[in-house]
Amino acid sequence: MESPRTYTNFIDGAWTESTTRETFENRNPADRDDLVGRFQKSGPEDVNRAVASAKKALPAWRAMPAPRRAEMLYRLGQILMDRKEALARDMTREMGKVLNETRGDVQEAIDTAFYAAGEGRRMFGETVPAELPNKWAMSMRVPVGVCGLITPWNFPMAIPSWKLIPALVCGNTVILKPATDTPVSSVHFVKACEDAGIPAGVVNLVTGTGQAVGSPLMNHPDVALVSFTGSTEVGRSVNRACAESFKRCSLEMGGKNAIIVMDDADLELAVDGCLWGAFGTTGQRCTATSRIIVHKKAMAEFVERFVARTRELRVGSGLDESVQMGPTINESQLKTVESYVEIGLREGAKLANGGHRLTGKGHDKGTFHEPTIFTGVKPAMRLAQEEIFGPVVSVLEAGSADEAIAIANGTIYGLSGAIYTRDVNTAFRAMRDVEAGIFYVNAPTIGAEVQLPFGGVKQTGNGHREAAWTVLDIFTEWKSIYVDFSGSLQRAQIDTERD
Ligand code: NAD
Repeated sequence: MESPRTYTNFIDGAWTESTTRETFENRNPADRDDLVGRFQKSGPEDVNRAVASAKKALPAWRAMPAPRRAEMLYRLGQILMDRKEALARDMTREMGKVLNETRGDVQEAIDTAFYAAGEGRRMFGETVPAELPNKWAMSMRVPVGVCGLITPWNFPMAIPSWKLIPALVCGNTVILKPATDTPVSSVHFVKACEDAGIPAGVVNLVTGTGQAVGSPLMNHPDVALVSFTGSTEVGRSVNRACAESFKRCSLEMGGKNAIIVMDDADLELAVDGCLWGAFGTTGQRCTATSRIIVHKKAMAEFVERFVARTRELRVGSGLDESVQMGPTINESQLKTVESYVEIGLREGAKLANGGHRLTGKGHDKGTFHEPTIFTGVKPAMRLAQEEIFGPVVSVLEAGSADEAIAIANGTIYGLSGAIYTRDVNTAFRAMRDVEAGIFYVNAPTIGAEVQLPFGGVKQTGNGHREAAWTVLDIFTEWKSIYVDFSGSLQRAQIDTERD
């Protein structure tokens, strides 16, 4: 058997060991005997080196015409396409989600690369009339500078790509700090950047913990922008650190997303959507369906069908193509899931399916949990309020669309929402009134596409939107430019007076 590889950081165009000389292991959550690799357990000195390298590379990169930067990103997309299957397999090994989903994760990076490549020839500024004669007024986007990118484990390539690719097309240089549970996908992604011809120092990778790498990165004086995706708890500390030095900071954080199922819904379609929304990625998506709010007239039939379909789900290693739901990411996340099952039972909710860790054949070496459904959940219960980030979904009852929308809005989060109904009036009211950055009609809360803005309201975000054209507002500053070609001093607001 091949011995597992030791992967290194990528700084100033070279694959380098950490100054700490320490490494950490990454193991397959479906089979702890499967060692994916060893990675650098980096420290603040590695961050300093990576930031210095990004700073050195910045002037040449930002001076390069955006269409040329974009050509390299187009090449990056092609390379990822060529390697898609191998990248998806390694991603399933490192974080457990099933192959179809890890293929989708790589595809999202490909889509982002191609979208950004087109942006290299757009990135529109505006030209407006000047108030004085013989004067030109226009605006243009300029890069922010050195960007620190801190990412979670649940979308190991898609999320780094949402940040890194737009940052680059805008002319910034970056340091990527991936989650410790999913470093291999970031190594593969950065290797593809290197192979696409992106110059040394433009992209840097430093692996290690939040404390030893993330924290020095976000506090570094030469880092102008921090883009973070992760929990609301850590996001709050990132926000504080950036406020201290007025760094630009974009935050994408937790969710407690709800699907509303009305009494006029196509119930089979709603059950399909709820299964995918709640148990896709083992419920470990920021947009996962964590609550299902069902109209009381549809409740009995919905629950019967939903539980029956959930019982049929095949749980196991994501490398097995017949499996529909993989493991939880690690033991600690599994314990969190178990603790919420206990909390739910203590709060008086009824366990309608699952509720236990899976052991025995096919499950004994991993961190598996049954797909779990609670019914009789009340809006104020912790089960209905707190992000669980696992395969646990709560079913709540509502007597009307207004009540359902009020329940959907009754949490601190506001990422994604959905409604199943055949009534166009109800659909439009929900589209307008559900407090969420993303909303679906007759589709589940998961499944964003890269050409629309992505992000949430309330404590899910801080007002930024990744993806689409809106991501440019994160990674650029606006510069307003006035050109006076009158040959004489003209004073705005003063020389404009009429006779
Ligand atoms: P996390 O907050 O634990 O970690 C995210 C990243 O922050 C990791 O790279 C981690 O190492 C780093 N980090 C941890 N402590 C840090 C510190 N003190 N200073 C600097 N960096 C630190 O989140 P996670 O467990 O990796 O991911 C799950 C969470 O991410 C969930 O809450 C989920 O909702 C959220 N998420 C949100 C979105 C979104 O777009 N809104 C997308 C995916 C995941």
